[in-house]
Amino acid sequence: MITPAHRAHRAGIVRQVDALIVGGGPAGLAASLALRDAGVHVALIERERSLGGIPRHSRHTGYGVRDLHRVLSGPAYAAHYATLAERAGVDIHLTTTATDWSAEGHLITTSPSGVQHWAAKAVLLATGCRERPRSARLVPGDRPAGVLTTGTLQQLAHLFHLPIGERAIVVGAEHVSFSAVHTLLSHGVAVAAVVTDQPASQSYALLRALAFGRHRLPLYVSTDVVAISGSERVRAVELEDRRSRARWSVPCDTVVFTGGWVPDYELARTRPVAMAGPHPRVDQWLRTARPGFFAAGNLVHAAEPADVCALGGRHAARSIVQYLTYGEWPDDGAELLASDPFVWVHPSRLTSTRERPTRGRLLTRVRHFLGPGVIELVQADRVLHAVRRHRLVPNRSISVALPASLRVDLAAGPVELRWRPGALRPPGNDLSVPSPVLQVGVQRERRRQGNGWP
Ligand SMILES: Cc1cc2nc3c(=O)[nH]c(=O)nc-3n(C[C@H](O)[C@H](O)[C@H](O)COP(=O)(O)OP(=O)(O)OC[C@H]3O[C@@H](n4cnc5c(N)ncnc54)[C@H](O)[C@@H]3O)c2cc1C
Repeated sequence: MITPAHRAHRAGIVRQVDALIVGGGPAGLAASLALRDAGVHVALIERERSLGGIPRHSRHTGYGVRDLHRVLSGPAYAAHYATLAERAGVDIHLTTTATDWSAEGHLITTSPSGVQHWAAKAVLLATGCRERPRSARLVPGDRPAGVLTTGTLQQLAHLFHLPIGERAIVVGAEHVSFSAVHTLLSHGVAVAAVVTDQPASQSYALLRALAFGRHRLPLYVSTDVVAISGSERVRAVELEDRRSRARWSVPCDTVVFTGGWVPDYELARTRPVAMAGPHPRVDQWLRTARPGFFAAGNLVHAAEPADVCALGGRHAARSIVQYLTYGEWPDDGAELLASDPFVWVHPSRLTSTRERPTRGRLLTRVRHFLGPGVIELVQADRVLHAVRRHRLVPNRSISVALPASLRVDLAAGPVELRWRPGALRPPGNDLSVPSPVLQVGVQRERRRQGNGWP
């Protein structure tokens, strides 16, 4: 059948919009709503049959605190944004995948009705992130059926209502891992064990308790999956204790690899936009290095909760409106670099000292458990900002509020995010610009210790 999209493609017609959003998850949807509010003609491309992104199939509560100021289940949260976007008149294109860019810089999409070319004054990439699958984790052994990620597990269980298995192992012990445990248990799948290579669980005890319910499940810490066995279906998993090197086998028919987030950066890379580690490089207003291209949501910080992504989408919309109005694109700026033990930092570039990042915070992650110590922002040996942390947990969101008074010299080279371990020292030593947060920390510590410092 010849469809309008086929005809348009043959006739070389390019669809024109002011703003084009790729990805109909919380970030893309929230951005589309804010853009419509500002009177912008906006089209949204989504490869799935329905809007909402990951929350559509994450059937537990815990969504919407920061953006909607109430707590919803994943599907209710997704439906809330999808309904608002439809009502607001966002030009929505489902089952449409953004696949490439033409030589003229047009976005190329493919859908059941054909190939389409899009010209937009501004493009927002909000393609989200995914969990690292077994192949990327280099787990040896057989390659039987029954090996999933949380995302696949929840799609099978909640969207397609397919059987999962009878006895599972969950690899990972961060927030999302306990979401996987909850899905398995609520679908009648026994959980043989939760396994993490870290020395402790990285989630809250409450989340763990909620996921485990009445079940007393073994949590193996400092443990690796060293082999999967089974011909057609998983039969067992071999585990190894990192400390003792002891190995043992756990019978199961399902393995769920959780967390280990990878941004969905493929489309960003085909254009390409400059990268900062695994994320497209963006400044505090979510501008990439390519004029007219913005990125938001878990594509730029894999992975934060949905409400943080939605607020990022709104922030990007403000930035897009600013660009559509004034056409300005900053060309000077300072890179923001994450030095070990930080894995990444968002934003990854600071282009102006006036503009604030989403929620006035930078976001980061650490490789391993740390604490106590001080997170510092350092430029040319000058400490611009410092905050004390009692403890940092890997695979858990770390956010640092930036003071409005933060002064970055855009001509003085990169700004580094550093970790200085150790107890808090008296003010005025090497924290040249102590933050309000740090000052409060200092006062609290002084009160706690009486008149003296250690
Ligand atoms: C199991 C699980 C449990 C979670 N629990 C919670 C929770 O309790 N509370 C909470 O706040 N957060 C939770 N999260 C995190 C939350 O779901 C994510 O933070 C949020 O969905 C990210 O939003 P996003 O818009 O950046 O990306 P996504 O939701 O991933 O949306 C990206 C969208 O882009 C589309 N897309 C990608 N590439 C293309 C392309 N080339 N063309 C067209 N479309 C494309 C995808 O189909 C998808 O719909 C959970 C996540 C998981 C996996």
